[in-house]
Amino acid sequence: MECILVGTGGMMPMPYRMLASLAVRLNGKVYLFDAGEGAQINWKKARIGVRGLRLIAVTHLHADHCLGIPGMLMLKAQMEAPEPITIIGPPGIREFVIQCRKTLEFQINYPIDFIEWPGDKTGIAFSDEHLRILWEPVKHTRFCLGYRLEEFDRPGRFDSQKALALGLPMGPLWGKLQSGRSVAAPDGRMISPEHVLGPTRRGRHIAYVVDTRPVPSIISLCKEADMAFLEGMFLVEHSEHADEKGHLTATEAAGIAKKANPARLVLVHISPRYEKSDLARLEEEAAAIFKSVQAGRDLDVFEVRFPE
Ligand SMILES: [Zn+2]
Ligand SMILES: [Zn+2]
Repeated sequence: MECILVGTGGMMPMPYRMLASLAVRLNGKVYLFDAGEGAQINWKKARIGVRGLRLIAVTHLHADHCLGIPGMLMLKAQMEAPEPITIIGPPGIREFVIQCRKTLEFQINYPIDFIEWPGDKTGIAFSDEHLRILWEPVKHTRFCLGYRLEEFDRPGRFDSQKALALGLPMGPLWGKLQSGRSVAAPDGRMISPEHVLGPTRRGRHIAYVVDTRPVPSIISLCKEADMAFLEGMFLVEHSEHADEKGHLTATEAAGIAKKANPARLVLVHISPRYEKSDLARLEEEAAAIFKSVQAGRDLDVFEVRFPE
């Protein structure tokens, strides 16, 4: 699993920092979290390839998180026979995309499914054969969702010694057991997967939460994740802006990480008031509370390994 920071800024794109957007690549598919104005520029720089774009998850209907969607959709429409795409997000995201298409008269040669927040408290927003995506409301100046992507667990390790001891020769029977099916041994005994497989291995989990004040739902979204991409928009000296505009300081993000204990914290949605040279200060403030932290830079790529 690869996490690519398409952008790490907030409010407005800057020449040196595009708007917060995270692409997660897994098994040839790409799951994109937010697409602000100009998202396709860094998307192209990162050479992600639009054919695999499977889903866009939108946190909220502020321009810096959704104005890039029409461009991404048009980009995908330039392919021949593209696969369908799913857009998930707050109520209104469907209307936003449909109105853009109508007004701008752009054609799309693939189906778009929409899944809008139904008003429940928590739950699974989307799932496919590899993973599921969970969402929970956070607390911003307008309705905003935080996300957690969970790769499905994998079967435990296959114990070949055990299999041989049970009289199963190496071959297709091993494959069947590995895929979770029971088999008959040559002597007629039925062998089920739990006889030869170790404990289930957890898939990789990542969290993406931006544009919020600190609330408990962020802790559950980030709980024990392998990577948490959290807003760290301001230094402590500008915390009154965080409070007033519904954002997190880097210190608050670190405080959440301390409670949720992700393996790694990456700060994103950085205020345009900070230059590249200020990122070290954001990191320093956060690291005083949660050690495993860094400020994200545009086009950073993180390889997420299995927890074991
Ligand atoms: Zn924002
Ligand atoms: Zn916002």
